[in-house]
This record gives sequence, C-alpha cells and structure tokens, in this order.
Amino acid sequence: MEKNKILSLKNVCKTFPVGKTLLGKPLNFVHAVNNVSFDVYEGETFSIVGESGCGKSTTGRLINHLLIPDSGEIWFQGKEISKISQDEMRPIRRDMQMIFQDPAGSLNPRMRISDLIEEPLLIHTDLDKEERMKIVNELLGIVGLSAKHAQRYPHEFSGGQKQRVGIARALTVNPKLIIADEPISALDVSIQAQVLNLLHNLQEKYNLTYVFISHDLSVVEMISDRIAVMYLGFVAETAPKELLYGNPLHPYTEALLSAVPIPDPDYKKERIILEGDIPSTINLPKGCPFAARCSKCMPECLETRPETKEVEPGHFVACHLYK
Ligand code: SF4
Repeated sequence: MEKNKILSLKNVCKTFPVGKTLLGKPLNFVHAVNNVSFDVYEGETFSIVGESGCGKSTTGRLINHLLIPDSGEIWFQGKEISKISQDEMRPIRRDMQMIFQDPAGSLNPRMRISDLIEEPLLIHTDLDKEERMKIVNELLGIVGLSAKHAQRYPHEFSGGQKQRVGIARALTVNPKLIIADEPISALDVSIQAQVLNLLHNLQEKYNLTYVFISHDLSVVEMISDRIAVMYLGFVAETAPKELLYGNPLHPYTEALLSAVPIPDPDYKKERIILEGDIPSTINLPKGCPFAARCSKCMPECLETRPETKEVEPGHFVACHLYK
C-alpha cells in the first residue's frame, strides 16, 4: 500500500547571527541546520537523533514554524509552509502540535490544568464552554489523569503528570502531526516508559504521526519506525529502524550505536571512542562535517562534502565510503 507523505523537508538551511560589527551587522553566523531533507509518512514515528547542538531541535522548530528557514522548503499536507505568515500558519498549526522537553516550563504556572488544556480549543474552535470542558475531561482520562486534577495548578503535579498534561494539551484539537522534542528526557527513568507507552497507544488510537527528537538511541529504538541521524546540522544517515540498528553505514552512526548499552551481560561490544574536536558551526569544514573525528577519513573527505545516496531501499547515507 502506498504511504501518504505528510511532511517533507527539502534542502532546509538555518543560520543564526552571532556578534555585531561596529555598523551593527552580524559578525558571524552559526550554521545550525544545513541542507536537511527528509520525508515523513502518515502514522509513523520519524525520529531525529544526535548529540546536543546537532540541529535536531532547531529542525523541529523550523517544522513548527517557530523559526523561519533561510532557504529550502517545508511541505506539510501538500502545502509549502516555510515562508507563510503567522496568520496563514494559525489554521495549519491546529494539525501540527508540539510537546516540549520541559513539562514544567511549557505550562503557565498561574493557570489551572483545565484552563491549560482548554486554551487551544479557545484559539482554534468556536465550541461553547460546556463542549470544551467535556473534551478537557475526556482528555484528562485519555492521558491517565482524572477530572479531579482539572482544578489543580501545575506545581501540584509530578514531572510525569505535567508531561501528561502537555500531551493532553497537544491532543485537544486533533492534530495530525506531533513534534515531540526530547519529551521524556527530563523525567525519572521509571516514568519514561509510561510516557512512551502513552505516546505509542495514542498513536495507534488516533493514527498520529510523530517527529520524535532525542539524543538517546535506546529510547529512539523503542519508539521509531524510521530515524535520521544528525551531525553538525547535517543529516548523516536516514533509515528504517531495523536497517539503522542492524546495518549502520555512516561512521558517526556506528560510533553512536557502539555506546548504547545492551541488556545482556554475555554480549560484549567494542565501544568506538570518537577522537578529535567537533568543528565550529561558524566555520563549517569544506569537506565532510565528520572528517575531523572519523577513523575512516580519506583525502577526498577533506575536500568534498559527501552527497546523500540511497545505498539500499530506504537507507540513505552521506559518506564517501559509499559510491
Ligand atoms: Fe568519514 Fe569520509 Fe565518510 Fe566523512 S565521508 S564519514 S570522513 S569516511
């Protein structure tokens, strides 16, 4: 069966100015996202993984129009949205919600839980108060809370409960796509699995599509259908989960996976220690962005930036080792 594409990024770039000259012009630019391209299909979980500063959260904010790309295209449900105005984006945002890393910081501490969950309904619908409260109470039940929590304030909740409220808020207007930016990394390990299970169950129930942003390859393995590995603002490798974990091609992906603990005391694997410094995102290297840390670096890697190639069906890699 042909899968429906819900989101496409095509050569998306984003820089941020740093410093100022005497004339007030930017002194330099941080190249946060560089030529990022990928497709996301309806009903799947597409994860973006990489170390801190690799551009994964910036990519999430570009998708959600919280940032505007310098160049490239972002298509959502057949419409190019990268350059539209905030007014034009408002109805589209109803279909595209975000869950943030810090559940405490993303909830206004002065608002009751019921008001926080009701707020998107006030913005995006013309339902009356009774209809809105019916949805609020239903959603509290769906995310594992109850109507008795509705009148409380965020500080009365644990981190896991706050994230459940964040998820309920994201679900209020029946979105098609949810961008979850490190949604469990601020939670206790014991709570992480519960929130992952909740996200998984909600996906099955509502045919949600997730863009799941994480630094944690163990978590990503649990929840993803396909994964993009980012390094220095570039996509190094994109593949279905089974191919990425079973046959990692990019030396950076190999190194990341070698650090993932395996819950089997008899299984010993060699950890690849990356040496060399991460290049500055202000002065990007001319060739491969990973060259300074790659044990397989060849002369051409220093001169030419590798293009992305499809090495096997659905498995894309940007590395000169693959012709
Ligand atoms: Fe390593 Fe060269 Fe591949 Fe870059 S292109 S990852 S430096 S082998």
